[in-house]
Amino acid sequence: MLRTRCPNDNHGRAVVTVRFCPNCGMVVNESILAKNCPLETHARRRRGRNAYCVDCGQGLLQEGSGR
Ligand SMILES: [Zn+2]
Ligand SMILES: [Zn+2]
Repeated sequence: MLRTRCPNDNHGRAVVTVRFCPNCGMVVNESILAKNCPLETHARRRRGRNAYCVDCGQGLLQEGSGR
C-alpha cells in the first residue's frame, strides 16, 4: 500500500486531541467524532495554514467546495 509520509506530529503522538490531521486529512484519532463546523471556523483554520479541518476533515484549500 502506498502511503505518503506526513510530517505532522499528530501521527506519532500517543494522545491526539483531534480526529483529523490538519496536514494530510487522515484520521488520527478514531474515538473522536467528526463535527459539523461553521464556515468561520474553516476560514480561521485556513488562515492558520491548515490544509484540512481537524474536526470534520474537510479540505480547506480548495475554493468553492460546498458553497
Ligand atoms: Zn497527517
Ligand atoms: Zn471542519
